[in-house]
Amino acid sequence: MIAVAIDGPAGAGKSTIAKMVAKKLSYIYVDTGALYRAVALCTIQNGILSSEEEKITAMLKHTVIELKFIDNVQRVFLNGEDVSDKIRTSEVSMTASRTSALPVVRSFLLDLQRDIAVKNNILMDGRDIGTVVLPDAQVKIFLTASPECRAKRRYNDYLVAGNVSESYEDILKDILQRDYQDSHRATAPLKPAQDSVTVDTSEDTLEESVNKIIAVIESKLRK
Ligand code: C5P
Repeated sequence: MIAVAIDGPAGAGKSTIAKMVAKKLSYIYVDTGALYRAVALCTIQNGILSSEEEKITAMLKHTVIELKFIDNVQRVFLNGEDVSDKIRTSEVSMTASRTSALPVVRSFLLDLQRDIAVKNNILMDGRDIGTVVLPDAQVKIFLTASPECRAKRRYNDYLVAGNVSESYEDILKDILQRDYQDSHRATAPLKPAQDSVTVDTSEDTLEESVNKIIAVIESKLRK
């Protein structure tokens, strides 16, 4: 099986780019952020704060998170309910960034991620895929872009969707805060794997980024 790990900060375009690359290569695209978001949603639904580690540990004992691929499109299930859409709010983003720092949450989700890679050719995106989840992945990419550029893209996404509930400045603040939290946590912090190739998409169109990633994958797999 072939595994491509794509890590990088929030808003670098990982999911959009990785989805397109996976489609072109006929790999399954796995968005691991959805798993952390499902855990975060579960804490919110249970009125548990991200600082209440013991309560989260107890909660996870009776929490079931599953990933299902319907026509190769990922859906995430929390205790049997499809929560793929509910997890896409800024409250869930921010909570996920905090709860994902807890070792108990990371180890809860580790096998689930590894099991998918055993059975399929995958392109998996996250923060610690190349460093922790799949250290033996054949290809590791660290996808990044400047914070301003990431905030501008997210703001434009909201504009296109006709749903501008946050200002550019607020989005930038959120991105900087999540970057800080994700890269300063003790367990599995966001950082490029030693053997990863860094791709900066700040100056690229979507198509250029997709082509760059495919070129990296093809050249790595040829070796
Ligand atoms: O990628 P996405 O923005 O959906 O991820 C939500 C949060 O989940 C991130 O801010 C990060 O804290 C966490 N995460 C993680 N490890 C991963 C994927 C996501 O810690 N592999």
